[in-house]
Amino acid sequence: MSHYFDYAATQPMRQVAIDAWVAASGAVNSGAQYASGRKARSVLDDAREKVAEILGCEPIEVIFTSSGTEADNIAIQGLYRLGTTNRVVSTPIEHPAVRDSVAQLPDAQVDLLPVDRYSHVSDFSALDTPADVATCMWANNETGAIQPVAEIVRRATLVGTPVHIDAVQVTGKLPIDFHELGATTLAASAHKFGGPRGIGLLLAKRSPAPQPIAFGGGQERGIRPGTVDVASASALAAALEESVSEIDSETKRVGALRDQLRAGILSSIDNVILNCEEPMLASHLHVSFPGTDGDSLIMLLDSLGIEASTGSACHSGVNRMSHVLEAMNVSDSDGIGSLRFTLGRNTTPADVEYVLAQLPDVVKRARSV
Ligand code: PLP
Repeated sequence: MSHYFDYAATQPMRQVAIDAWVAASGAVNSGAQYASGRKARSVLDDAREKVAEILGCEPIEVIFTSSGTEADNIAIQGLYRLGTTNRVVSTPIEHPAVRDSVAQLPDAQVDLLPVDRYSHVSDFSALDTPADVATCMWANNETGAIQPVAEIVRRATLVGTPVHIDAVQVTGKLPIDFHELGATTLAASAHKFGGPRGIGLLLAKRSPAPQPIAFGGGQERGIRPGTVDVASASALAAALEESVSEIDSETKRVGALRDQLRAGILSSIDNVILNCEEPMLASHLHVSFPGTDGDSLIMLLDSLGIEASTGSACHSGVNRMSHVLEAMNVSDSDGIGSLRFTLGRNTTPADVEYVLAQLPDVVKRARSV
């Protein structure tokens, strides 16, 4: 039996999402004008309305995409195309979907908001000069650090800069009210909250709306053209509804398990460095074990049926310290032996106890090679 500790990478689909997907799996093109097309359209409309109600926006502001990555790309490239300053404000700890999107913007001057030792944005002053887009993640995928997004939106808005928020890690974990937040765009991804992989969300204000970066049949306000996957949209809405209804109880339950894991690690293993601190998601625990390397730790854990990640799943396979730890000023020798445990709705006390029983020996073996 495996003990899964990689919920920040993805999680199993919720039964409500599977049921919604199956129920809508026969949906035809929601743009067609005949009866079956209208039926598909009505399922899509219901999904859009549900998402809008839960996330505090209008249905027209909900754009279905193929992933969080696509939503981030559309927002950043599309807002940059609207602008005139050639300036972008971002952070050094963004997911590659944002980081690499920003890096390829033509002729952009990029200013990064600094972060502190625990990856919280610590200085907002770059936001006081107008830019074509300012972008910041709501919570970091590696450390779980929750960012001061309200303040970032406030400061950027004062000088007229549109703001994109990558909410992929927080959707279904923290309450989101898009209008109250005041951001221009926001990205989310269904598979992070128990929906299907392969569908994401971009919330986009009516104005300024990102310019399209792909062209086609004009679906989704022309911002994300292409025939919409109605069944996946319906499953996304069902997963979102259930995950949001469980925020309070799951934050408490998962947070208590995470605290138990952290306390157990600190009391049973020498020389452990914690890389996360409040405000942070209840699901995350990021720790370094100097004298080890992340890949050995993962391999040893895997052989015992424990599935965790080094830094971020998106980078695995490359034994290099993550750019997030680098931005936090963690030294190479400390950061290279890091593990990210992320807990979620199927994590049990027995999973945590099993890790605590195995990890001291795993670290000892990794330190002896
Ligand atoms: N942004 C963040 C913060 C993420 O954690 C991820 C996925 O790990 C993404 C964007 C990309 O989302 P997707 O997997 O849907 O492309």
